[in-house]
Amino acid sequence: MLLAQVYLQRATREFDQLYSYLVPEELSPQLAVGSLVSVPFGRGNSERQAWVAALAEAGENKLADQDFTLKSIGSILAPPLLREDQFLLAQEMRRRYFCSISQALNLMAPQVLLSTGAKTQRYAYLTDPDEAVDLLEEGSLRSMGQVRVLEFLLEVEEASLQEIMAACGVSRSVLDTLRKKGLIANYNKEVARETVSREIVEAEKSVPILNSGQAEALASLLETNSDTGKAGSEYLLFGVTGSGKTEVYLRAAEQVLGQGKDVLILVPEISLTPLICDRIESRFGQNAAVLHSRLSPGERYDQWQSIRSGQKHLVAGARSAVFAPLKDIGLIVIDEEQEASYKSERTPRYDSLDVARIRSRMHGSKLLLASATPSVESYYRSQTGRAKLLTLSQRAGGASLPHCEVVDMRKEMAFDPATVISRPLKDALAETFARKEQAMIFLNRRGNASFRLCQDCGYIHKCSNCEVSMTDHLNPHQPQQHLLICHYCGKIEKAPTVCPACGSEHFGPYGLGTQQAERVLQELFPEQKILRMDLDTTSGRFGHSKILGAFARKEADLLVGTQMIAKGHDFPDVTTVGILAADLMLGQTDYLAEERCFQLLAQAAGRAGRRGQTGQVLIQSFNPENFVIQAALRQDYQAFYEEEIRKRRVLAYPPFRDLGVVTISSHSQSSARYVARQLESELRYLVEKNKLGQQLSYFSAQPAPIPRLRKRWRYRLLLKSPSRELLTRCLNYLNQLKIPEQVSVACDINPKHWA
Ligand code: ADP
Ligand code: ZN
Ligand code: ZN
Repeated sequence: MLLAQVYLQRATREFDQLYSYLVPEELSPQLAVGSLVSVPFGRGNSERQAWVAALAEAGENKLADQDFTLKSIGSILAPPLLREDQFLLAQEMRRRYFCSISQALNLMAPQVLLSTGAKTQRYAYLTDPDEAVDLLEEGSLRSMGQVRVLEFLLEVEEASLQEIMAACGVSRSVLDTLRKKGLIANYNKEVARETVSREIVEAEKSVPILNSGQAEALASLLETNSDTGKAGSEYLLFGVTGSGKTEVYLRAAEQVLGQGKDVLILVPEISLTPLICDRIESRFGQNAAVLHSRLSPGERYDQWQSIRSGQKHLVAGARSAVFAPLKDIGLIVIDEEQEASYKSERTPRYDSLDVARIRSRMHGSKLLLASATPSVESYYRSQTGRAKLLTLSQRAGGASLPHCEVVDMRKEMAFDPATVISRPLKDALAETFARKEQAMIFLNRRGNASFRLCQDCGYIHKCSNCEVSMTDHLNPHQPQQHLLICHYCGKIEKAPTVCPACGSEHFGPYGLGTQQAERVLQELFPEQKILRMDLDTTSGRFGHSKILGAFARKEADLLVGTQMIAKGHDFPDVTTVGILAADLMLGQTDYLAEERCFQLLAQAAGRAGRRGQTGQVLIQSFNPENFVIQAALRQDYQAFYEEEIRKRRVLAYPPFRDLGVVTISSHSQSSARYVARQLESELRYLVEKNKLGQQLSYFSAQPAPIPRLRKRWRYRLLLKSPSRELLTRCLNYLNQLKIPEQVSVACDINPKHWA
């Protein structure tokens, strides 16, 4: 008799464990570890979905326990989607990321469950497109989520709910609200499973011959470790943009595939890195599964299945692709390893680098991190022997580094206090356009202005759901109209024209955003065509590629945008890059601000002159002497690193200490505060009882940096320790304490976003 051990697919904490079931004779041939099954559960035998984690013959294993009162599995819902080692990974994730096994497993088979076996899908369409246009023009919708959905449906007419949620970044409740308002309607659409084959990408014309630096890096990467006879583990491939890092890891991937092993390549965000995906598809063809974030659920399911069944041996994708069910991984590559998007900010709060390290240990594979501006933590690993540093020191195609200069905005403001574009930048742009070349202007803040302020009484308009100021936007559907938008909860209000506090008319927008920069630039250069790219212009199905494509085809002379334009795109005719308000990023208070600023400045600068011509970069700053600006100016990572690591050591920040953050939140301020204090005293007790004072420090419970978010009050406990293991254990202890239902507790280690 065959027995199966299963995890429930949606288990509360109490039921987050293995359960044994009998396997009926007729199911046993198809059943395998990783199958999704339906089981009767609990006293009422209600039907539940579950993952098969292990199989054993009765009597063979102590799990069998001769228990013939066991219930039987009802049916098989889906063929195997997970592999055995992924259940071990899920157990490890529960411990490290304070989640349940079922939450971890759901990450590993994303969206699949929703579409298993379904012949129809829920679709939505606009009941009255004209009314949608009216509402957008009036600016009378109350949330950004609703705006994005209407804009999306105006563009594509109809789409599955899954696709809308993914494309617009909204939850189901936004769709429900729109349906209740009568703006959208749903129906069930028959869906034939789309086949995965996409348009065949043209094969790369020629594969370059590696230069000596690349050849050396590739050789050390592929070398087996002579001490252990095993493949060595972690590498950091460090080289400026264009130094040929991608070429090196694609070659390594070819070799590893040639040895019959699998390869996993992680890239930050597929929509922002179309080039690399094309390169992978054209080089590896049918052997590669590229997991685009906008695959339909059916396509994603098919891709996953083809990976699990061993048809695909190379997987490329964003953060969650780290869970792809490959069988025998020989190489894991993490491109742009410094990117914050590798860290999930939702439960389970995992870090893909961390998960990749666990998987590479489980599979005995190599782990390669690649970056032009490595995170301080990763570079530190390479300096302390935990990773091997591979350096590429010149640009591969022979292009030279751009000429960088800083513009002192204190002088520019003294000349004209309303300066947005400094005189040197204006001149540089004019010359660029005269030569029929292209330029990019980078500003890391979207919207028209950062906030609205009253000059008479100092009132700043804040969101009623969150303790943050609302951002001033021009309504894209009605450019005369100013809207105030909360960038945290998406709430929209029409901007008041007089101060709501004192009635003064001196109530206006302050602080430059991309919309305003675009307008100012258009006034300066009325002849030039300007495109803008930020979150507000890219919500449609192909928003990114439309703008990038138009710019690449030289349909515009200038691209203005947020960090989205700083990354990965290769525009050979861009010779001038301007960076506005570089200091904005330094103004943030968390310990990662300098690192983020350096990375963005260096990346933005790297956009200039990628081929042929030498580019120029102008950085506008009020702190031209700041070490971050100075290092970025000279494209000197080393100088930045030395100063930054010194600071981290002195202030006891990562990589010298790990930071544990416990966020306690509730609609009731008093409940949140009460639980926060309670956890603090539990922690104090734990530390005193076990004499942990030497290895663990903590700070008393405080309101979080954003003390109220989406109507929830938030408090925070901060822990510091040189031992990740100790920190993990303490957080697990706090996480399992019983707390009132209306309060939620979230634990995280080294978060990338501090809110
Ligand atoms: P990175 O990943 O460091 O930005 P890439 O590998 O994308 O660098 O290389 C940048 C450009 O140089 C690409 O167009 C690539 O095809 C080209 N390239 C890479 N290696 C070589 C080489 N050895 N010889 C000539 N061109 C190369
Ligand atoms: Zn006022
Ligand atoms: Zn808000």
